[in-house]
Amino acid sequence: MDDPTATDGGIDPARLPEFEVLFSGAEISARIQELAREIADSGMQRLLVVAILKGSFVFAADLLRALHTVDVRPEVDFVTLSSYRKNQISSGQVSILRDVDLEVEGRDVLIIDDILESGRTLAFAKDLIWARGASRVSTCVLIEKAVPRAADIAADFKAFRCEDVFVVGYGMDLAYRFRELPFVGRVIS
Ligand code: 5GP
Ligand code: MG
Repeated sequence: MDDPTATDGGIDPARLPEFEVLFSGAEISARIQELAREIADSGMQRLLVVAILKGSFVFAADLLRALHTVDVRPEVDFVTLSSYRKNQISSGQVSILRDVDLEVEGRDVLIIDDILESGRTLAFAKDLIWARGASRVSTCVLIEKAVPRAADIAADFKAFRCEDVFVVGYGMDLAYRFRELPFVGRVIS
């Protein structure tokens, strides 16, 4: 991990590294059920959920199924945004790689992302959805990192907070790897 520009993230692809588990699969699923209840209680109408790809795909899939158990019946769409490259350094610029298909005007929208770090990605997504004429926009993240924000934004719903470490698993990658891990952790060796 010494060279942040390495396309393999500095990790030998032939070897499974060791991880420190920060949030286990069981902890995550228990917390997601609570989060679903909070979201259901927030009274959003004709809900449209927009998940930010790629990092949130596992979280969004589990949260949507938890929402079903609390009788929330949203429409679901995706937007692919890019801010991270193949390394751990944010470029600071957010761009749309794939836009939403659905009409957003007049809808209550819940944006789902994996991590709130500088806040640029979530702020960009929120501005985009407002600009499309949403009547209400809320945000939900799996992890809020305890770092200063570059953009003035807080998530309305968050599962966990964590320190300023680079995390992988549960949908989140390092150079396209480790998305399949059933926990959130960090590479330790
Ligand atoms: P922000 O725009 O808030 O600085 O960063 C948010 C985006 O950066 C997240 O959607 C996520 O894709 C990526 N990101 C931020 N921190 C991490 C991290 O620790 N691990 C991984 N895999 N991605 C991260
Ligand atoms: Mg992301």
